[in-house]
Amino acid sequence: MPSPNPIALVLEDEREIRQFVRTSLESEGWLVVEAGTIKQGLVEAGTRRPDLIIADLGLPDGDGVDFIREVRTWSGVPIIVLSARIHESEKVAALDAGADDYVTKPFGAAELLARTRANLRRIRAGRAAPDSTFRFGDVEVDLAARIVKKRDVEVHLTPIEYRLLGVLVANAGRVLTHPFLLREVWGPSHSQSTQYLRVYMGNLRQKLEDDPAQPKHIATETGVGYRLLSE
Ligand code: CA
Repeated sequence: MPSPNPIALVLEDEREIRQFVRTSLESEGWLVVEAGTIKQGLVEAGTRRPDLIIADLGLPDGDGVDFIREVRTWSGVPIIVLSARIHESEKVAALDAGADDYVTKPFGAAELLARTRANLRRIRAGRAAPDSTFRFGDVEVDLAARIVKKRDVEVHLTPIEYRLLGVLVANAGRVLTHPFLLREVWGPSHSQSTQYLRVYMGNLRQKLEDDPAQPKHIATETGVGYRLLSE
């Protein structure tokens, strides 16, 4: 894909962090656009059409969650949240508003860049192969045929387990919050029942992971949700 200089928008009011993110991204060939307020961020997002947005949550003119919600009304651009906040509920709010991932401050350049690459890969893979077979470890998921195999042996999944795996696969690499997964799999009335989720995730791990107690692919994001790691 000919994209010599992808554009990243960095929405962050602390100049030092903005500078750090800019330097990190520029080292990998990104063209960086900066914004320090939500208002400015929305203008830049609308006019520059970035390939990636990195957004802080605590901003002088409001909550970054509102920025994410606004951008999501017209764009599917990957959004990574930078958060100093320790409360998991705020990460959940950002992810539920449409953020793809988060990095908790303080963070290093390597972590930020790894997340950036993972999210871009996910977006591009999604565009390239909408209905092919998905693989993680020695598990093969054929979404069209609804067949799941582990080391070439078919694994029987219940309809709910299959639906849950389907949501994980469709969003591989992304952090999926408990409320999101519950809504997608069980519908809106079950959005508070995280114990359902724990039980079914346990079943999936039992069937698909080599060591269900040390899952390598169906990862727990403590207090937030789950993420399917495909490599
Ligand atoms: Ca801030």
